[in-house]
Amino acid sequence: MEGIAESALFKNTIRNMEHSAQIVKLNPSAIERLKSPRRAIVVSVPVRMDDGTVRVFEGYRVQHNHVLGPFKGGIRYHQSVTLSEVAALASLMTFKNSLLNLPLGGAKGGVCVDPTQISTREAEKLTRRYTSEIAPWIGPDRDIPAPDVGTSSQTMAWMLDQYSLESGFSQTGVVTGKPVEIGGSAGRDAATGLGVVYIIEKVLEKLSQKINSVTLAIQGFGKVGMHAAIEAHRIGGKVVAVSDVSNGLYNPEGINVPELVEHYTANMSLNGYHGGKLISNEELLSLPVDVLAPCALDGTINSNNADHVKAKIIVEGANGPVTANANDILKGKKCLIIPDILANGGGVVVSYFEWVQDISWLFWDETQVREKLRMVMYRSFDKVWEFSQKNHLDMRTAAMAVSLVRLESAMKLRGQL
Ligand code: NAD
Repeated sequence: MEGIAESALFKNTIRNMEHSAQIVKLNPSAIERLKSPRRAIVVSVPVRMDDGTVRVFEGYRVQHNHVLGPFKGGIRYHQSVTLSEVAALASLMTFKNSLLNLPLGGAKGGVCVDPTQISTREAEKLTRRYTSEIAPWIGPDRDIPAPDVGTSSQTMAWMLDQYSLESGFSQTGVVTGKPVEIGGSAGRDAATGLGVVYIIEKVLEKLSQKINSVTLAIQGFGKVGMHAAIEAHRIGGKVVAVSDVSNGLYNPEGINVPELVEHYTANMSLNGYHGGKLISNEELLSLPVDVLAPCALDGTINSNNADHVKAKIIVEGANGPVTANANDILKGKKCLIIPDILANGGGVVVSYFEWVQDISWLFWDETQVREKLRMVMYRSFDKVWEFSQKNHLDMRTAAMAVSLVRLESAMKLRGQL
């Protein structure tokens, strides 16, 4: 498909897949199938702006593979969204869902728009029109979107409403990550960040360390990063630095996370908070910390800055934050990297719980959700760790290998190979 393979993230994802496929001697036909998405939908999204003019935004939904179940994946609103980036993220969802043993395939969507430059009214119109355009291909048993960068539970509420309007029935299972009042799951907001922290606990356990004896730096203070900071702080982790798109905040004694969250929620900025000094995003990446969790965008740790990273452990809260070159540099420095498809799986796990609750009309409380999430994250971590130890592989290669073996088996059973 033209344009699909252009981005560095797509090339990197395929490269990782081929590397692990070689190790587990994957059937070449399975590799061929997984190299291209099943379907890529490109839509125009015209919106009448508040000033009366019409702007047309480009939107995408890429459905990568559904051998394991209905397509599932987030919707991103960002000015740098491209078809190829969305395709790469869709394939990561296939690998993630397989690794986590979920009955779901992989998809991703996006609209090329800067969400900070449009009003709430414009965002609602954009979301409703985008939903209408992709409506024929989504649905509770077809493809279930969720929030990602630049979208929120409110975005999902608009999607749910628009989809229900068009189908004539309330369809709460069409999206996950929606508000609890309309069928969302308790604990979904915190899920990805909490999952990141469960993985940090597990990796520290393997290294005979505990979270209350290490320092953490978290890049990105959005849905993933903020909750990772909250959850790490809650169990005694010393979060010494966080950052958003504008800058970072550093306090070697540990940030008072609940106080900072209160400040950030009121001001939407780290500026003006007195419990730490402002630093740049680049400075955050090179801090002398034990654990670095990049939870912002892809490619933030690259060949320009990997050499400066001092953290001994990197836990990828974001999708694709470490480029291929940076990965090689960090491996040379004996940095232990826990890959995205394992580390940030908490979001899709609780999305899966939400979908199950919606279609069964039976809702769980937050304690149940957190406990079930913990079990899935611990089990998935152990599986990858064991595979990596047994086969002398790094965690990225091992995670992809475990995922590919399940996909191959499903393809064989379905007669696709
Ligand atoms: P978000 O929009 O809620 O937050 C993104 C954060 O990153 C914001 O704090 C923003 O200011 C910051 N940021 C943006 N550009 C930056 C830059 N160049 N440098 C530093 N910080 C920057 O998005 P999110 O949902 O938290 O997603 C973050 C990452 O996690 C993405 O890669 C996403 O695909 C991945 N992810 C999200 C979920 C989820 O449930 N939301 C699940 C799995 C993976």
